[in-house]
Amino acid sequence: MMVLTKKMIEIRSILQKVGQTGALQLPSIVVIGSQSSGKSSVLEAIVGHEFLPKGSNMVTRRPIELTLINTPDSSSEYGEFPALGLGRITDFTQIQKTLTDLNLAVPEADCVSDDPIQLNIYSPTVPDLSLIDLPGYIQISALDQPEELKTKIAALCDKYIQPPNVILAISAADVDLANSTALRASRRVDPRGERTIGVITKMDLVDPERGNAILKDRNYPLRLGYVGVVCRTPSTKFSFGRNVNITNAISKNENTFFGAHPQFAAPDSGVTVGTTNLRKKLMSVLEQTMAQSLQSTSDAIHQELEEATYEFKVQYNDRPLTAETYLAESLDKFKHSFKDFTEHFGRPQVRQLLKHELDQKVLDFLASRYWNKPLSDDKSWSRLDERPISELPNVDSENLYWHRRLDASTSALTKLGVGRLATNVVANALQQHMDRLISESTFRAHPFAKQAIQEATNAILNERFYSTSDQVENCIKPYKFEIEVDEREWAQSRENSQNLLKEELKACDEALKNLKSNIGSKKLVQVMSFVDKLRQGEHADMKEGTEAFGFSQPLLQKGREGVFLRDRAEILRMRLYALKSKQCATSDNKYHCPEIFLDVVAEKLTSTAVLFLNVELLSEFYYNFPRELDNRLGRHLSQQQVESFAKEDPKIRKHIELQQRKELLELALEKMESVMALEKSKKVPVVGE
Ligand code: GDP
Repeated sequence: MMVLTKKMIEIRSILQKVGQTGALQLPSIVVIGSQSSGKSSVLEAIVGHEFLPKGSNMVTRRPIELTLINTPDSSSEYGEFPALGLGRITDFTQIQKTLTDLNLAVPEADCVSDDPIQLNIYSPTVPDLSLIDLPGYIQISALDQPEELKTKIAALCDKYIQPPNVILAISAADVDLANSTALRASRRVDPRGERTIGVITKMDLVDPERGNAILKDRNYPLRLGYVGVVCRTPSTKFSFGRNVNITNAISKNENTFFGAHPQFAAPDSGVTVGTTNLRKKLMSVLEQTMAQSLQSTSDAIHQELEEATYEFKVQYNDRPLTAETYLAESLDKFKHSFKDFTEHFGRPQVRQLLKHELDQKVLDFLASRYWNKPLSDDKSWSRLDERPISELPNVDSENLYWHRRLDASTSALTKLGVGRLATNVVANALQQHMDRLISESTFRAHPFAKQAIQEATNAILNERFYSTSDQVENCIKPYKFEIEVDEREWAQSRENSQNLLKEELKACDEALKNLKSNIGSKKLVQVMSFVDKLRQGEHADMKEGTEAFGFSQPLLQKGREGVFLRDRAEILRMRLYALKSKQCATSDNKYHCPEIFLDVVAEKLTSTAVLFLNVELLSEFYYNFPRELDNRLGRHLSQQQVESFAKEDPKIRKHIELQQRKELLELALEKMESVMALEKSKKVPVVGE
């Protein structure tokens, strides 16, 4: 059993993941030959399946790194393209098609590419081998194969036939060996014929005498010898069906042919023939070459590892990091900051948010139902059905006009859809806070995780949204019919509403100040007094939209704004005065003090809504979010997803990749050392003729 090659192939696949550099490459058998020399047929005979691209115009354009892995314990045969992640391919026609596609993908202008295609084939009938199939040499440049292609193919082959690789030089028996491009190329790099195996195909096409002579060629003697084969692949699809192994058919065919001629079959024929023998030879030659290169490969790995270790120490202070630990740590930290957030965002905060929202609604109603009234009983511009706001403090308690106003305002407030509004406010706030937590976490550099967190948040909130808003709406229902106020509530709201009005007044004053600094205080006074006069009926002849008295339309607009702000500020001051007065001290006078009464309503709506929001939305969210997060970013992710997540951050990517490189090199070295120990303990068998 060729244990060494098997182990070395394992090491080779580890090194492939590291990204081989020249020194790290393990020896392979490089297959060269002219087009139509039968190169593909030989490779397919070794593999036992037709799998290489065919067709008159199909020139292999990329090297194929073919790794054969013997699987004695399994009857299944399949191929894998490790770099493509296509998984196991059991249909060899499919492998052929993939190889064809990969070759055709090389742009016409480039002719060939030296980027190898990696293909592993697992089968109980293949030997452990690592072969490299190269584009066939072109003899005559056809019209559709430019001269450049010929040169490029030769250069590509030259690159691969360097030591320590073994060269498998394929020549057809019916072509004079002196004309064999493969042998000529190999002679250039291996003049003493020490690492070349000559394969003579199409032995059936020449006279056995001549065939025998070719195999004994003394022109270019090879230490590893020549092997004659007949491996025209039987037309598998027709005679054997798809995917049937052709190894036996070929060797049976060869046995019949070679057995019929003493030039090959006689014990003293002095030649080696047949694919079975070729296969054995390949295995033992590769095994021996591997053994010879053990030390140099091990030294190369050692050196690479030392460099990686040093870089890891200098750059990352030996801090271990894997995609898994990075994700786990990031998740932990995020959950921690989430927990922290839940402790700071509870009922009081929700209450404040909601009250603020309802305050704004109250301000809107006050503005549209009270403060837009004429300031005083100024008949010149008040409409007949409008009562001036100035009469409010002294109005008769039975006055229906102001009763209706307050009832309508209260009803507008209780019926504005508090359930939907409150749920929305809290859900939006939670979403914003989650976005903030993301932006403060390591997840900010990870679009995938960011999206997962946002989706987790939305999923929980969406699920709870309608039931929560319905619950809240149901619970505030009584207030749509009746509002009872006790004196303590009244006193509190009296204070609240004063603060609210003060804020509003401040905003009004601020806006007026801005206007002043914008167009100049003098100009503002002029245009405002003009607007006042306009309202009082002077300049009645002036039509809307015309410019007048040197005031442009935009300036007039500013003037109107100024007048509005000034009047609004005056009303606010007046109302603030009223709220402080005795008149507003008790709830008996609610019609005189709509600001206070509406605040009482807003307070009640807020308190009730908050109770349910806390239970139905907040607590639910706080309980479910960490679980949802685990579902989306935790154990359910595949290794590949975790890896690509971590590598989204370029800094982390570098760190992880260096660590992986270091670990893979350590693993390769460890295996290498055990292989070397094993080799030392046994005597290396003598290979060859
Ligand atoms: P490649 O271009 O070097 O890969 O050559 P192929 O393997 O495609 O073979 C070229 C042609 O030679 C095909 O038609 C094969 O069927 C045929 N061929 C290959 N090996 C043998 C052989 O041993 N004997 C005979 N008679 N024909 C062969």
